[in-house]
Amino acid sequence: MPALVPYVAAYSNELGPRESDMCLEVPRNGVPHIAYTHPRPDDRDAHGNLWARMTRPPESERGRVMWASMDPLRQRECMEGLLCQVCAKPAETDTGALFVEWERPGEEPTPLNRITTDAPPVCLTCLPLAFLACPFLRDDRTAVVLLARKSVLSGVSGTLYRVADDLRTWIPSDSDAYSSFTKPRCPGMLAQRLYRKLRGVTVVDPADLPPDLVQAS
Ligand SMILES: [Zn+2]
Repeated sequence: MPALVPYVAAYSNELGPRESDMCLEVPRNGVPHIAYTHPRPDDRDAHGNLWARMTRPPESERGRVMWASMDPLRQRECMEGLLCQVCAKPAETDTGALFVEWERPGEEPTPLNRITTDAPPVCLTCLPLAFLACPFLRDDRTAVVLLARKSVLSGVSGTLYRVADDLRTWIPSDSDAYSSFTKPRCPGMLAQRLYRKLRGVTVVDPADLPPDLVQAS
């Protein structure tokens, strides 16, 4: 079977922004925050978080697939629009959306009513392909398919910067910080992942999906 490269996968030559691209901006609320020297309209999400810009070489010149990493902007696109992380088509069914979860080593399994995920949904067409082709899913006995009746955008994670002593530049202080949408925004956050909280979750058997699970039109 040819390698199935998920839409959200990162490539080795799609790179994030440089610190020299960023500046300290004082918005109307008076709280200085991280910004790009040359801002663009889509730099921030609805909550005002600054997102990592990525370089985009032509598709024919794409580098190595980074199987274990997601591209920040394609991940955000899939999470915002509930698009399939494999084919980027709408992933909602009439009864919700399917998400694949697995146990993280060293972590307790999360109760079904407390799951927050950065893994975008998978559509009905791609689900069986993903289990066949993805080495992580094929070999991970803890992987489960969840049907979430509803899900809400709940936060972002990314690199947290702090202002340098010159009060002009930013220095990374945490490479994987989470910022919930229910808390005040982190002024130094460069977002790289968007999260959804899953609601009304049931575990489903990928080999025996409920017959009422129909792709929404
Ligand atoms: Zn798909």
